[in-house]
Amino acid sequence: MHPTDFTLRGAMEALNEGLVSSVELTRAHLEAIEALNPRLNAYITVTAERALEQAKASDARRAEGLAGPLEGVPLAIKDLFCTAGTRTTAGSRILGNFVPPYESTVSGNLLRDGAVFLGKVNLDEFAMGSSNTTSAFGPVENPWSRANDPDTRLVPGGSSGGSAAAVAARLALGATATDTGGSIRQPAAFCGIAGIKPTYGRCSRWGIVAFASSLDQAGPVARTVEDCAILLRSMAGFDPKDSTSADLPVPDFAAACARGVKGLRIGVPREYRLEGMPAEIGRLWEQGLQWLRDQGAETVEISLPHTKYALPTYYIVAPAEASSNLARYDGVRFGLREAAKDSDLRDLYERTRAAGFGPEVRRRIMIGTYVLSAGYYDAYYLKAQKIRALIKRDFDQAFQGVDAIVTPATPSAAFGMDERQDDPVTMYLNDVFTVTANLAGLPGLAVPAGLDAQGLPLGLQVIGRAFDEETVFAVGAAIETAADFRAVPGLRAGAV
Ligand code: GLN
Repeated sequence: MHPTDFTLRGAMEALNEGLVSSVELTRAHLEAIEALNPRLNAYITVTAERALEQAKASDARRAEGLAGPLEGVPLAIKDLFCTAGTRTTAGSRILGNFVPPYESTVSGNLLRDGAVFLGKVNLDEFAMGSSNTTSAFGPVENPWSRANDPDTRLVPGGSSGGSAAAVAARLALGATATDTGGSIRQPAAFCGIAGIKPTYGRCSRWGIVAFASSLDQAGPVARTVEDCAILLRSMAGFDPKDSTSADLPVPDFAAACARGVKGLRIGVPREYRLEGMPAEIGRLWEQGLQWLRDQGAETVEISLPHTKYALPTYYIVAPAEASSNLARYDGVRFGLREAAKDSDLRDLYERTRAAGFGPEVRRRIMIGTYVLSAGYYDAYYLKAQKIRALIKRDFDQAFQGVDAIVTPATPSAAFGMDERQDDPVTMYLNDVFTVTANLAGLPGLAVPAGLDAQGLPLGLQVIGRAFDEETVFAVGAAIETAADFRAVPGLRAGAV
């Protein structure tokens, strides 16, 4: 077996038993990155030297009996998490040379537990997108391809496209990611791996470049549900530096994966049966529900009546918050500074922002500024906030009768890099099943459940009550066991 083929759990066991060292694991991943990254473009920055130093130190700690919970495990970090001394770009030209002086809480928690960082992975610019084609560092390629059309390069999804592609192609055992409207779950589904957006407040947002602060959450992607559970336990936890961080104990999520679903009530929202959705996605959804019934769960149809307003609400709230968060990139405090000899302050702002932001980010800033402007605020932003409350209330009512909700993760499989690029609204439709959990602050897990007729992975989504990730993991693991998903992408370490 190639050392990059371990699951995270498997690698931890092999490390514990002395069958492999962290240096060996890390080196194998660095070699795989060197071989495959020129094509996949999943990593923006590879920190090879530092990774090997960390691995050496980790092996030494283990030898002294000081192994942490993630001791020696090589991971990738989305380039939206500030890493002390390592460039953090947010996929944008405006932060192209930004080296943070501090570590994000989430990545710091992983280091505290002994993880090794291979490098920083690609994303849509400022995490805005569903295809990883808006990055200033170039698009990421999905390691999967269509059986009857292997030459069409597919997107890995976004915004955490680098995280998902790296993990699927075995260029890391797991990765951090963030999800504002679907950016963990949609790329995980497109790349045939698992990913969870935890409850809003479960992971600290401190040191993560902000997109839309009331929606942003960090979470892991990995090749199994249990691996996500292991990573989330390290990433999560109260942090006084984030005022929205929840002061709650972090449960043993991995233990919850083995709970089973016997006696659980699973909600099936009627509004998620979209017209025009590929029939195989509907069939996979039905199959997933049958798997859960076979294991002792009961499925019940529920209604989330405000679902159809979720996308328009998201695409008002998220750009509004983005336009205000991104005001800080002014050429004075961070990153890029573009000025002419006779530039006044306003000219400095205009030049810096015109040169630094790509077209999608500019579009979001303009939409956000518009919906927040005097005269339009009530009609757009205030109304969106009210509808957001109704969407949350739909879920509160549904969860009085069910323990979890199961839906498709995405309305399609991965698409071609050149497809859906002309019309931003078509791109925004990717998020139709995922934005609701962000608007309501609820945990959502994507789990690979099958392949479409082209041999591309399809995922199901499990949504749970706030701070009940344990049930979400139990349901996700039950789907994973029944699906027995063993398919692997063509582009992966050890295979090419
Ligand atoms: N695709 C969504 C967007 O473009 C979600 C992105 C995200 O979750 N960061 O806004």
